[in-house]
Amino acid sequence: TDIEELLLSRIRDVADYPEPGVMFKDITPLLADPAAFTALTDTLAQIAERTGATKVVGLEARGFILGAPVAVRAGLGFIPVRKAGKLPGATLSQAYDLEYGSAEIEVHAEDLTAGDRVLVIDDVLATGGTAEASIQLIRRASAEVAGLAVLMELGFLGGRARLAPALDGAPLEAL
Ligand code: IMP
Repeated sequence: TDIEELLLSRIRDVADYPEPGVMFKDITPLLADPAAFTALTDTLAQIAERTGATKVVGLEARGFILGAPVAVRAGLGFIPVRKAGKLPGATLSQAYDLEYGSAEIEVHAEDLTAGDRVLVIDDVLATGGTAEASIQLIRRASAEVAGLAVLMELGFLGGRARLAPALDGAPLEAL
């Protein structure tokens, strides 16, 4: 579609970043283009409405940039899922494996409750580890997962297959 072409044209491929052999997808040109950023926000807000989401979760850090305007546009609350140690209140935390080592993400426990339907937003789905951990956090908070929406899916890394059990039928939308 025209929107897909617009979005794709505003993503920059950066070779060998952050390490040799990696082709990094840089979304800063898209953010700097108001037509593209608005189109992205509107498209994600439509997904929020279609999936019946009651809250938007954004994954640190680019998921904050994309998720916050979507929440405002869709009339929903925004909840940050942060790297461990950044949230001041009582948190739920979830560890997950990286290629080398592990990472941990957290959410304020009081931000998600039973009855919430949560749309998770991030810029890039790679291996799916970050998204999987966020879904586990949402379920541990007794909330439902309305879906996962990302700007880009790096299909060759197999994140979609990895996430299927965690998503349990909830949609994964990659623009
Ligand atoms: P995963 O956990 O392997 O799926 O990695 C996804 C996380 O890493 C997301 O939060 C992305 O923001 C980030 N990420 C991985 N690859 C890229 C990239 O090429 N561009 C921007 N972010 C990336």
